[in-house]
Amino acid sequence: MKVGVLALQGAFARHLKVLGGLGAATTEVRAADDLSEVDALVLPGGESTTMSMLLDSSGLHDAVADRITNGMPVLGTCAGMILLARHVADGRPDQRSFAAIDIDVRRNGYGRQVDSFEADLDVTGLEDPFHGVFIRAPVVEWVGDGVEVLATVDGRPVLCRQGAVVVASFHPEMSGDGRIHGRFLDRAFAA
Ligand code: GLN
Repeated sequence: MKVGVLALQGAFARHLKVLGGLGAATTEVRAADDLSEVDALVLPGGESTTMSMLLDSSGLHDAVADRITNGMPVLGTCAGMILLARHVADGRPDQRSFAAIDIDVRRNGYGRQVDSFEADLDVTGLEDPFHGVFIRAPVVEWVGDGVEVLATVDGRPVLCRQGAVVVASFHPEMSGDGRIHGRFLDRAFAA
């Protein structure tokens, strides 16, 4: 079983490190050929507008969309959450998302004054709090009935799951804590 991390732009290196630390075989995904090797995919944080452009120019957009439709487990963090959302507010007009999870997000929705912040999160299924690092994070403004909200900050969802798709508005790869990646892998590769 191999986990790919989309490596077109952004904070992909730490995801590879966390996944490797959990014993997973990993690879950087930059082209459709790389994608065909992987069983699950992480979409990292970074800049969703740029990533959307690079997904188009690399020819990866349709390949990723296809794999998601066919049930590939996918974890999206921050910009990755934006790329997986059903609807994106305050995006660039030409920005595309995979509509893989029934949530609506607003880019940089926490506002300039609170550009970045950290919060200890109570996560469903984890015994101890998870330290969440939020960097120009998207706000989840709406979730559909089929979406399980696994953590909130001030009543707003920050970690959600629908089927094989998991999204976090924070950066779980930055906390030196592999539990969220670990749970993703456990579910993704549960027989
Ligand atoms: N604000 C970025 C975007 O809109 C996301 C920030 C992040 O991934 N840390 O894509």
